[in-house]
Amino acid sequence: MPRPKPGVMDIAAYVPGRESAPGVEKVYKLSSNETPLGASPAVAAAIADVAGRLELYPDGAAHKLRDAIARAHGLNPGNILCSNGSDELLGLLCQTYLSPGDEGIFTEHGFLVYRIQIMAAGATPVVVRETDFTADVDAMLAAVTEKTRIVFLANPNNPTGTYLPVSEVRRLQAGLPRHVLLVIDAAYAEYVRRNDYEAGIELVSGNSNVVMTRTFSKIHGLAGLRIGWMYAPEAVIDAVNRIRGPFNVNAMAIVAGAAAIGDRAHVDAAIDHNDKWLARVSEGLTALGLEVTPSVGNFVLMHFPDAPGKTAADADAYLVARGFVLRRLTGYGLPNALRMTIGSEEANLGTLEALRGFMAVTS
Ligand code: PMP
Repeated sequence: MPRPKPGVMDIAAYVPGRESAPGVEKVYKLSSNETPLGASPAVAAAIADVAGRLELYPDGAAHKLRDAIARAHGLNPGNILCSNGSDELLGLLCQTYLSPGDEGIFTEHGFLVYRIQIMAAGATPVVVRETDFTADVDAMLAAVTEKTRIVFLANPNNPTGTYLPVSEVRRLQAGLPRHVLLVIDAAYAEYVRRNDYEAGIELVSGNSNVVMTRTFSKIHGLAGLRIGWMYAPEAVIDAVNRIRGPFNVNAMAIVAGAAAIGDRAHVDAAIDHNDKWLARVSEGLTALGLEVTPSVGNFVLMHFPDAPGKTAADADAYLVARGFVLRRLTGYGLPNALRMTIGSEEANLGTLEALRGFMAVTS
């Protein structure tokens, strides 16, 4: 029997958010931070255009998509690399920069893929405590050793929804040795109204050891097509280009992504919807007596009391039975919390109503 290389069988596989509620006809999927607005209408037409030519390989350099991203963000296409979801990029960066014996740093409630990909590269994951569910720059810097090669910072963070201001991200970068790569995972960047995530772009432009990863899965509503990208110094792009799959972004993804990022009105509508409902849902949950971690993403983390009949597991079972599918976070070290994606008006109000019923139940 072939044996996987050391460490692989120690990895706990990523378990995606559930999609269904058994036995319930009308399901509201609020478990994977997908947008309730769907993709831009321009996407379907773009895909139809390539659908008749699928016998051809896609452009391996994804020029059309990189150009569209560059235009939308005022960047140089030479500093952009696209991928099959930003998940793939996180893995490619680990494969490119980590060897056995090296260390990769991330925070206590950071995205699970960091640990998986650090371990898959044969390196050692180093978990750093957070303060108030937020990355703590001093703690992160204190964890750096001569073996550290990569530091992941999700900003905003999933699943906590917390956000580190750019002054703190700058302080983190400034404190890292130059040979350590800082990966700013900005999957939820567009939802941050303060918009100082764009300063993260400045940080990439001004330094040789910072990259920013982004996704089309959230604000652009294209999770099903798997499109991610990074903005990075040319030397990083060059290194990752050497090991990525030659056609890692498919033909439909290339045209769909280009169409989606060109539709600014759709992006703005998604931001407005999220602003309005993030505030209402957070207030509604707080009014029910739940502790809510203030979020800047398209999701919110709620904490349940550790009382019999009132735990997150109890709430989850109650909600699922009514078709509201949220995300349990046991794998994130948050066994008594649930994460709810900001959904449609109907889904948001329905979840609040169901939770009101749950909180009122006497055990
Ligand atoms: N980073 C973070 C923080 C995420 O929450 C996610 C999606 N759950 C990703 C990266 C990966 O997104 P995708 O692969 O769909 O681009």
